[in-house]
This record gives sequence, C-alpha cells and structure tokens, in this order.
Amino acid sequence: MSRTLRELLDGNAAHAADFETRFDAVQDAQHPEAVTVCCSDSRVLQDHVWGNDEPGRLFTCGNIGNRVVQQTADGEVVSGDVLYPIEHTGTDTVVVMGHTGCGAVTATYDALTDGVSEPPGIDHCLDLLAPHLEPGVEALPADLDRAAAINRLVEYNVDRQVAFLRESDEVPDGTDVFGVVYDFQDVYSGRRGEVHVVNVDGERDVETLRDAHPEVADRIERRWEY
Ligand SMILES: [Zn+2]
Repeated sequence: MSRTLRELLDGNAAHAADFETRFDAVQDAQHPEAVTVCCSDSRVLQDHVWGNDEPGRLFTCGNIGNRVVQQTADGEVVSGDVLYPIEHTGTDTVVVMGHTGCGAVTATYDALTDGVSEPPGIDHCLDLLAPHLEPGVEALPADLDRAAAINRLVEYNVDRQVAFLRESDEVPDGTDVFGVVYDFQDVYSGRRGEVHVVNVDGERDVETLRDAHPEVADRIERRWEY
C-alpha cells in the first residue's frame, strides 16, 4: 500500500472520530447556505478557507480555473456542479473564488498569447476559459510583469464567471453572486490566506462596494480596476 494512501487513511480516521456525531441533522438531506466554486489548486483548501467544518453548510465545487461554464451541444450553459444546489437544495448564494498565481489562468494566458497547447483534457478546460479571458488579456496594461498580469487576469476571470451566472436564465434573479480572490502570495494587503471581495452581484467598483457594504469594507480590494 502506498505511503500516501496510508497517510490519507490515517487522516480520515481522525476525521471520522471527529465528525461521527456531526451528521445527525443532515444525514438524509442537505440545504447548504452557499455554493462555492473554487480552483482545484492544492494550496486552496476550500472549506478551510471559510473556517468551515460543518457538514451541510457549503456545497463545494472545484475545477481548474474556478469555472462556472460548461459546454454542451447547445452551447455554453451554467455548469451542473454549480447549478445543482441552486436547483435542488434551495441554495441562493454563489461564491466564485479565484486565487493568486492560478495555474489554469496562467495556462490560458499562455495559450492566448503564445499559442501554447496542453493535453486534450486540459485544453478542453482552458478552452472554456479562453473566450471569457481573451478581452481581459487584450486590455491588460502593457507595463505589467508576467506575475502581475496573471494576477489581474485572475480577478478578471472571477468577474467573467460572476457575469456568466448573472446573465444566465438558469440562475434565479434573487441569487446573490459574489466574486473573491484568495491570496497566499502577498499580492493583496492583509494576511496570507485572506479572501478579498472583488465583485458583488456584478458590481466591481471598489468605492461603490465599500459604501454599499461598510461592514466588510476592509475586505473589499482589487488589483485591477478596469
Ligand atoms: Zn488555480
């Protein structure tokens, strides 16, 4: 047996000991408060980011590049991973979370600027991001170094995913849609591991957002106001 799996199973045994009594209220059904869409990046621990260890509270989706878009024969639709809790569990809050130094955003940037290609499965994921990121790549300030450009594109990607949800007929109008960026690279102010709100229901002007949400004004921050 691989050491990795043994260590994972040890960790799970501790989890089970801790969680044994925590499923009573949700054993047969779930009504999560929010669906969160995060990059699969191993440095972003989706439940931990929110301090969440309560089963049933958050419906967590993960994929490279925190996409909410899925391609079907009829064109782009809201990914079923995101839509499921909205349709089936009464969830009325969506949080799209990007992160600094995102590899998927980097690979999409490279594909758009240098035509770099990846294995087909990865290309498929990047192709879902590329048309949404292309206008952002074109609008990037010219004087940025590569890391700064990509971190601005991380914000732009969150904006585009939020916009896609808001423009979709499948997401009810009353759904709250938030866009945030998780930072572990000291790109934003504050501590490593803090989430920064960059978009609330499509609004991305920092001063407007701070005026509208003074209780979290210090958590609202952007690197790119375009
Ligand atoms: Zn990522």
